[in-house]
Amino acid sequence: MLNTSVLVLNSLYQAITITSVRRALCLLYKGQVRVVDADCLTYDFRCWSDLPVQPGEDAIHTPSRAIRAPRVVLLVDYDRLPRYDVRFTRKNIFFRDRNRCQYCGGRFRTRDLNLDHVVPLSRGGRSSWENVVCCCVRCNTAKGNRLPIEAGMHLVRAPRRPRWHPLARVRLASRRYEIWRTFLDAAYWNVELESDEEDGLTVQ
Ligand SMILES: [Zn+2]
Repeated sequence: MLNTSVLVLNSLYQAITITSVRRALCLLYKGQVRVVDADCLTYDFRCWSDLPVQPGEDAIHTPSRAIRAPRVVLLVDYDRLPRYDVRFTRKNIFFRDRNRCQYCGGRFRTRDLNLDHVVPLSRGGRSSWENVVCCCVRCNTAKGNRLPIEAGMHLVRAPRRPRWHPLARVRLASRRYEIWRTFLDAAYWNVELESDEEDGLTVQ
């Protein structure tokens, strides 16, 4: 229970990261965070630990009492939205490209996709966000060690470094707790997208 997840908001109720119950309770005890409930009411350590645990609720049991496990906490003195650099990893490239081959546009399972250097390494291409795309095995073979133009192929869209809200993935991957939804949906719609056409999103 102490290692389960807690969503952390800044003081403007913007989701910024995820932490553990253990750490959240420690910060709560020190007064650096307040617990947020489904009605957006906040509680300091004393008020929170005085709340009775309802049947079926997650709780931390100490010898003297049980404390409800917080699921959302708010940083009292932090109103910024930290910038995160998205790491250049295979997983993140697949995620950026939504598992679509960037040449034929087909969607594939991860294990059926390769990474392709648009400008091949042997031709001076670099391993970077701007030069590496998701590619199906067929297109990868067809392209070989050539530039797309030489192979008569076109990129579905020019690859770029993504700028995701750090929690965009979390929202898509899992909504672990019902109460997170309110805050993650808000975070999601505030994500600065490179392009929202790809997955049919409409940003209003
Ligand atoms: Zn393909």
